[in-house]
Amino acid sequence: MKILVINAGSSSLKYQLIDMETTTALAKGNCDRIGLDGVFKHKTDRADIKKEVPMKTHADAIKTVIGALTDPEIGCISDLSEIKAIGHRIVSGGDIFNQSVLVTEEVIEGIDKCCELAPLHNPAHLIGIRACIEVMGDVPQVVVFDTAFHSTMPPKAYMYALPYKYYEQYKVRRYGAHGTSHKYVSLRAAAMLGKRPEELKIVTCHLGNGSSISAVDRGVCIDTSMGFTPLAGLMMGTRCGDIDPAVVTYLMEKENIPPKEFNRIMNKESGILAISGVSSDFRDIDNAIEEGNPRAKIALDMFEYQVTKFIGAYAAAMGGLDAIVFTAGVGENNPDLRVRCCAPLKFMGVEMDEEKNRVRGEERIVSSENSKIKVLVVPTNEELMIAADTEAIVSAL
Ligand code: ADP
Repeated sequence: MKILVINAGSSSLKYQLIDMETTTALAKGNCDRIGLDGVFKHKTDRADIKKEVPMKTHADAIKTVIGALTDPEIGCISDLSEIKAIGHRIVSGGDIFNQSVLVTEEVIEGIDKCCELAPLHNPAHLIGIRACIEVMGDVPQVVVFDTAFHSTMPPKAYMYALPYKYYEQYKVRRYGAHGTSHKYVSLRAAAMLGKRPEELKIVTCHLGNGSSISAVDRGVCIDTSMGFTPLAGLMMGTRCGDIDPAVVTYLMEKENIPPKEFNRIMNKESGILAISGVSSDFRDIDNAIEEGNPRAKIALDMFEYQVTKFIGAYAAAMGGLDAIVFTAGVGENNPDLRVRCCAPLKFMGVEMDEEKNRVRGEERIVSSENSKIKVLVVPTNEELMIAADTEAIVSAL
């Protein structure tokens, strides 16, 4: 089955056409600057193009994608009818959706209700869904939520110790993010270890520009580091992660900073960027450390320390640990960082194989033969996970 996976943003639309028989992407690309001028990128085995294409709306963008996919020269299918389903990435399903579902008017309403929890993303996803209905007619569409994998967390993990009315009135609680990635890499890790997910306690570390860590206990997520928003948990490229909440009101008062502005500072001007004073990109941090920049070193030390702490905490929360998985830009591509994050966990039985660990962006077990807890690198593939959920739902129709 061929499935079109869509990730719609407010002025962009990323896509992949995935063949589920081979689990490979036949084409992938991006429509950018929708509503402005329009830039179209498209890549297949035979083509790799970037050109300006006027796209006033998301429907124009979908038409551009379909045109490219069915084009005799740059395309990879001969007819639109080969696309059997569409899978959409949705950032927040709030507490309404705990699994992927077929798109109906009721589902669209539900996603709309979650807009407050993901104001930058959910409205754009809805525009993407409506554009697909307009252009693709009744091709079945499925929505896959970033929050769904975390919906199994128990109240003790998702509640905040604030007045209960804020939970009741505004649904303020931990939701987590990156769920599709955590689910994918935990399933892959089980397969690589030759076990069923139900047999394993896994900590999945999604370390990229945005980072989160999850505790996956026998296939079920029981805790995750991101919270009500993706600002919580680990410090990140430009996000502060967990801090004493009293610091927020203290600084807002001291410097007379309005809430919106302070939110921006915590999201865009904090994290690795703020501490290093150099960059939010881990490659730049490595270079700065080599040049002897002490603040870059503190930034990296802080990040690695926090990763180690979360792994330890989640091992305790699960009452044991069988595997640690590293994924996303940093997790997949930074062998030295993996070693440093795991080194303090030697007492628990984590032992890296330095030779095997010298790997970037490739699935591999990187712990030693004797390591009690296995360490794995698994490149994330959220699109494939979305396509897999979409196929499962559409096949059952
Ligand atoms: P996002 O959260 O935006 O999806 P990514 O998962 O792409 O982010 O991660 C971006 C981070 O990954 C950057 O800090 C970058 O330094 C790091 N990274 C990406 N590729 C490499 C690489 N080949 N070597 C080392 N670090 C890398």
